[in-house]
Amino acid sequence: MPTVAAVLLFAGLVGWFTGHLWLCVALGALATLAWHYWRLRSVLRRLTARQRWDTAEGTGVWNELDRLLYRNQVEMRVRKRRLLDMLRSYRAAAAALPDAVVVLDRNSQRVQWFNEAATALLGLHHPGDLGEALVERLQPMPLAHWLAGGRNAEPILDVPSPVDPAIRLNLRLIPYSSDYWLLIARDVSKLLRLEQVRRDFVANVSHELRTPLTVVHGYLDMMDPEDFPGTGPMLEEMRKQSQRMAQLVEDLLTLSRLESQEHTEEEVVAMQPMLATLRREAEAHSQGRHQISIEDLAGVDLQGSTKELHSAFSNLVTNAVRYTPADGRITVEFRREGDGAVLAVRDTGYGIPATHLPRLTERFYRVSSSRSRESGGTGLGLSIVKHILGLHHARLEIESEVGKGSVFSCHFDADHVRPRESAPLTSVEE
Ligand code: ADP
Repeated sequence: MPTVAAVLLFAGLVGWFTGHLWLCVALGALATLAWHYWRLRSVLRRLTARQRWDTAEGTGVWNELDRLLYRNQVEMRVRKRRLLDMLRSYRAAAAALPDAVVVLDRNSQRVQWFNEAATALLGLHHPGDLGEALVERLQPMPLAHWLAGGRNAEPILDVPSPVDPAIRLNLRLIPYSSDYWLLIARDVSKLLRLEQVRRDFVANVSHELRTPLTVVHGYLDMMDPEDFPGTGPMLEEMRKQSQRMAQLVEDLLTLSRLESQEHTEEEVVAMQPMLATLRREAEAHSQGRHQISIEDLAGVDLQGSTKELHSAFSNLVTNAVRYTPADGRITVEFRREGDGAVLAVRDTGYGIPATHLPRLTERFYRVSSSRSRESGGTGLGLSIVKHILGLHHARLEIESEVGKGSVFSCHFDADHVRPRESAPLTSVEE
């Protein structure tokens, strides 16, 4: 402002002496305006060209503006450098991960970015595979259907890598924003090998124990307490324990066999004789101490392995008898559920506290070890049930209330339900 006033005053003075006061003031004002316009143009030009700003000396609005723009530019540069450093370190961290990480465009399912491990595990290469459709690049992995599941896609636990089928991968899909998904592939070959070693070890030990146990059991059976006075209770206990061990070995062998099986037999499982057999078994176990009822409401049969399904259902019925005090009620109900079917074993027994329910199907997991052992349990029954149902694409649901009882239900999908044929004369026992 002082500059403008000085220019106008100077123009006024010149005008006063030359006798053209207003003309000189107008010319002074015009020159001031032109100068400001020129400064504004130069600022705009430098801003458009993103030129570097220098610090300005002196006073006046234009120098003030120059200083302000210089300060903003410096701050912006520092902020940008910090953001770039941060981005670089995030990328370096993701690149150094041992798991393959692939960023996917959600709509096109094309590859946006991937780390180094994605080259070794999935066979993606820089830069050719950027922008490529992931499903096509990872052929023959069956990903199209899986990716369509999006947020609901369950992890794929074991799939061969397209680079080398000996590498087994675990795949997870993480929709982390509305536009992008993260695919994470982990090499689980070593874990699976260890799991196989563990399975083989258990199977071999169980197999090796079987013969000596049979011999011990046989000799114990031959020993008559009358021939060895005073040893009656001892012999009885030895027989009981060797029987328990034999049952444990049999259950371990069954589990090993089920674990190594990928499919099961596909025959029609006649449910009328199955339910009749379950009733006989429950009655034999209960010895009249419980009220037992069978409700055959489904009017269909199942598809799968009669032997294995009988083993699973029988385990549930035996548990219901073992964990229900005398005078309790046990109901086996076979009913339809939508297009599928459910076999539910209901008891009015001790019940199970809610905290134990999620772990009940783990091997050797027991709510009360003493109660399980007293009733001849091995702690493997429900684990066997879960595996058998898994092979039939069925699931086990457990509801229970302490002091009231429990319901163990096996849910079968429509693919494992068959129209009931006329009841065959044979039962599963025969
Ligand atoms: P176990 O041989 O010990 O019975 P299972 O795997 O069959 O082993 O069952 C695991 C545990 O689940 C049992 O030890 C028992 O505590 C509990 N359980 C199973 N069925 C029932 C039931 N019907 N009522 C109460 N508890 C049960």
